[in-house]
Amino acid sequence: MQERDPTRCVHCGQPLAEETRDHVFPKSWYPETTAVETQRWTVPSCGICNNELGRKEKEVFSRLVLCVDPRLAEAAGLSAKAMRSMGIGAEGLSPEEAKHRRAQKLKIIGATRPYQAGTATLPGLGPHPGFRDEELIQIEIPADPLREVAKKMVRGCEYVLAGRIVEKPYDVGIYFVHEHEVPDQLVRAFQGPSANTTHLGPGFSVIRAAAHDEPNAVTYKIIVWGTLVIYAVILPEFDLGDSQLATS
Ligand SMILES: [Zn+2]
Repeated sequence: MQERDPTRCVHCGQPLAEETRDHVFPKSWYPETTAVETQRWTVPSCGICNNELGRKEKEVFSRLVLCVDPRLAEAAGLSAKAMRSMGIGAEGLSPEEAKHRRAQKLKIIGATRPYQAGTATLPGLGPHPGFRDEELIQIEIPADPLREVAKKMVRGCEYVLAGRIVEKPYDVGIYFVHEHEVPDQLVRAFQGPSANTTHLGPGFSVIRAAAHDEPNAVTYKIIVWGTLVIYAVILPEFDLGDSQLATS
């Protein structure tokens, strides 16, 4: 365990003039089923990273939530929240806010299509059992902000769990892979003795495993809302190469 350094931003490494805290998992992403005593991890972050990442979290939140099975306790209350962010079921909004939410709604409707079997989907995000194909829609999720949000979660987890700011030569590589396509080296990483699981209420699970011969080489599996599975590795940049396999 390294010394935690609360004087620098976990995301960009810059010294902090004044400390703001970034939620590793966005505050509004915790389902209603989360107990009050559940930890909501925060890490030191500069205002610039905090704002920029917050914007990306917002950009992907509604789209992700709309792809989650609303019957899951792991995601309770989130689909109503996503609807309200589009102005649906939200009352007492200022005209300006109502206009902003309407624009959000149109943007998301524009990204929505009837579901076509065989389309590349993010691991865990459907199609869900118990629905007919023609009842389903699919939503395009922009890859870059989603990847950035996933990376920031990993940097935050690594700071909380290991006291480490991930910085050069190390970087975070994100994999969105379906269970049956997970590379062997990732599967093996989580079978070692160093693998450690933390549950942050029903909404989030974090499994961290460090390589036994290189404790700075770390593998993560993060499960969001019992649904979206994110695999990540922290490795020297040149080892990451084009390991960043992505499905749509
Ligand atoms: Zn920063």
